[in-house]
Amino acid sequence: MASQLTARPSDIPLQNLYNLLQPITISPRSPAATFSNWGQTFYCTPLAVFEPETEFQCELIVELARREGKVVRAVGVGHSPSDLACTNGFMMRTTKLNRVLEVNAEKRYVVAQGGITLHDLHAELAKNNLAMINVGSISDQTLAGIVTTATHGSGIGYGVMSTHVLSLTLLLADGSLVSCSRNERADLFVASICGLGSTGIILSIQMEVEPAFRLKEVQESLPFKYIMENLDELVYSAEHVRFWWFPTKDIIRCSSADRTLEPKKPAGSWWWHTFVGYHVVQLLLYFGRYFMNFNTWIANLACWLSSKKSVGIDDGHRIFNVDCRYPQHTTEWAIPYENSQACLLELRNWLEQERKDPHGLRPHFPVEIRFSAGDDIWLSPSNGHRTCWIGIVQYKPYGFNVPYRKLFEGFENIVARHQGRPHWAKAHRLQPDGLRKLYPRFDDFIRVIESVDPCGMFRNEYIERHIMGRPVGGRIHKLRQE
Ligand SMILES: Cc1cc2nc3c(=O)[nH]c(=O)nc-3n(C[C@H](O)[C@H](O)[C@H](O)COP(=O)(O)OP(=O)(O)OC[C@H]3O[C@@H](n4cnc5c(N)ncnc54)[C@H](O)[C@@H]3O)c2cc1C
Repeated sequence: MASQLTARPSDIPLQNLYNLLQPITISPRSPAATFSNWGQTFYCTPLAVFEPETEFQCELIVELARREGKVVRAVGVGHSPSDLACTNGFMMRTTKLNRVLEVNAEKRYVVAQGGITLHDLHAELAKNNLAMINVGSISDQTLAGIVTTATHGSGIGYGVMSTHVLSLTLLLADGSLVSCSRNERADLFVASICGLGSTGIILSIQMEVEPAFRLKEVQESLPFKYIMENLDELVYSAEHVRFWWFPTKDIIRCSSADRTLEPKKPAGSWWWHTFVGYHVVQLLLYFGRYFMNFNTWIANLACWLSSKKSVGIDDGHRIFNVDCRYPQHTTEWAIPYENSQACLLELRNWLEQERKDPHGLRPHFPVEIRFSAGDDIWLSPSNGHRTCWIGIVQYKPYGFNVPYRKLFEGFENIVARHQGRPHWAKAHRLQPDGLRKLYPRFDDFIRVIESVDPCGMFRNEYIERHIMGRPVGGRIHKLRQE
């Protein structure tokens, strides 16, 4: 067996390949042999699930897939709300590929394996007095997961997190290991930093970081009209600005955060935040499944619970992160920043009409509104312009389902009218024809994936449906049809 470990995977006889993969193959009887995303909205039962601990084992998986003509899908921690991470082929769970390989404080970069979670990365960086430059609402995701989906935080001067990637090591479908960056195989690089897992397996990522910092966050509730009239001023008033909008009260909770040298002073109390804000609200949301009007009342309660002005100072990632609460259906679209006022006003009118209608929609709130700088990444929803991200959720209290399709359809029709582009990790209905109009480099992306993966090893059903435009029998991984 020792000689097999030094052999090239393509030289290893099939039976030996099986033997080598056996220790990292999840037993079909294990719960880990099936996959469900965090939101409990999509699931799949892959043909086989592997949990590699070394890059060589990844190579073996790709070699087996190559010989058997199977699809391989790398998966992080399954936080994508769509079926982006699902497959009926081979699934490669990457969370044991979680080491930091190099930290360079002087040149301000880190190299880490793709499966490391952001929580673990923050801890490792902190040991070297460094930090990620910008982070989204949570840090549970893997580094490769956020890079392949162009995950974003908020801050009009800050691009999506993929803009901080300096280089990648990829395992391609032909079994080769390649490095890419802006200077080396640039097309492959730009395709891969929002590549939806379809260019290759991301083994390691070199990412730009900055000296560790604290953020001072001020949160206050302001009237919707005031925010609309002063949008530019507010969005540019701090490094990281984001809004939570409660349409039932016409109030927007505005969060503005800047780097500070002031000492830590975390905001919030267990009683309000955890007991009332989490547990009581979940119980009320559960009742809201039966009495829809309850949802308006719950939104008003949530708006009131967070109405006081607050100031918090903490490590950057602790301020960036928020409690995303319960499993949920969610959709989020990126619109050109210039269209944000018009789009938000149209959404407001629509939601008001629904509220006036006794049989109208009674959604969960708040609506989350964030901002990012433009970039040149081919499939980044921020490609080419400053961006306003607008996201809605329908929570699933205690995991129970809630209606969401009509709400999401109404929302999507409006944001699409304002040149909206869907967040790739979140479920949407766009096909290549529509996406091509939104993304000037869409065909360049297809050209790259067809050249590095001509047989489609890394194309799961999501990629076939949305990127290649091939029918795959609807949303085959949907957990429950409503
Ligand atoms: C509660 C919650 C909060 C969120 N907050 C934000 C937010 O603030 N901003 C935002 O933009 N998004 C947000 N998201 C979306 C989330 O950041 C993305 O879905 C992200 O991809 C999840 O990472 P993951 O590790 O779970 O990846 P998965 O969902 O497991 O996989 C996502 C994609 O990455 C690919 N992939 C994973 N590992 C590799 C690898 N090693 N090589 C190649 N491809 C790989 C998969 O094939 C798949 O295509 C949030 C999601 C949730 C559930």
